[in-house]
Amino acid sequence: EAKSQGKGRHVVYHERMDHRTAEQSRVAADLRGALDTDQLHLLYQPIVAMPGGELFGVEALVRWTHPVRGPIGPNLFIPAAERTGLIVPLGAWILEEACRQAVSWRQTMGAAAPRTVSVNVSARQLREAGFAEEVAAVLLRTGLPPDVLTVEITETAVFDGGTALDELKSIAALGVKIALDDFGTGHSSLGLLRTCPADILKVDKSFVDDVTGGGEPAVIVAALLTISDGMRLRAVAEGVETAEQAAELHRLGYRYAQGYFYARPLPAGEIDTYRPAGLTPAPGPGALV
Ligand code: C2E
Ligand code: MG
Ligand code: MG
Ligand code: MG
Repeated sequence: EAKSQGKGRHVVYHERMDHRTAEQSRVAADLRGALDTDQLHLLYQPIVAMPGGELFGVEALVRWTHPVRGPIGPNLFIPAAERTGLIVPLGAWILEEACRQAVSWRQTMGAAAPRTVSVNVSARQLREAGFAEEVAAVLLRTGLPPDVLTVEITETAVFDGGTALDELKSIAALGVKIALDDFGTGHSSLGLLRTCPADILKVDKSFVDDVTGGGEPAVIVAALLTISDGMRLRAVAEGVETAEQAAELHRLGYRYAQGYFYARPLPAGEIDTYRPAGLTPAPGPGALV
């Protein structure tokens, strides 16, 4: 990709990569201590019903507050954690923490509790032998019903090869839901739908960004909904930021969304006070109630 853009670009690309790698090594060294010293916590972003924005589920998103450097985003430290293998203990902590929180909401919020709690699982975790057993053990320890948990994986993670697909099938066999994250940005998207035990398809933000333009992104977003409906997948539009995007997605038939327009990632304690902040449906035929 960089190569095709000429020699100048090629060099810049590699310098950036080096910079990024050095940064990741520094980060990885500090991350080792972060788990033991309470520097990590989870935020939960509502996944809502359209158009009104009623709470349907939440996605757990990890945050790291470094004692010196302050907040560090997952886009920086998750790749470092994957490269060093630290993602395995880190991911185990995230999974258990999210399941405990899900149980806690069920106790305090009752029927209003999130119906699903999504946890991102990276390729490296899925490749780890016994990952499905670990998921089963966490469900037992926390008492969370399996179908309340959703595991989010990317297309790339499944095609990582090895036993990833088998591990995923074992997780699905527990009754845990599987979501294909950032769908449309990886490889072999459509083939994956035939082999992978998916329940939810999360349409990547990059398509949602341009959905109001009426061009190819809108065509793709519409086609992904047709595929999802036909294959009995729940389609979730990711990264909805504006009322215009929400209205267009709703017009296309989308029923679930996630994005800053509805809610930012929130501390666990703010989920029970989340109130729908979506579109008010126009009354009359076709309005969803
Ligand atoms: P993702 O799983 O696709 O998560 C969605 C990301 O999009 C989150 O960023 C979320 O805050 C952001 N987002 C949601 N709505 C909007 C919006 O309307 N506009 C914009 N601009 N952004 C929006 P975050 O929390 O920085 O996470 C980034 C990525 O890091 C995640 O992408 C996921 O791949 C990874 N990640 C986050 N938490 C975990 C984790 O606990 N485990 C693993 N393995 N990966 C994680
Ligand atoms: Mg995700
Ligand atoms: Mg995503
Ligand atoms: Mg995304």
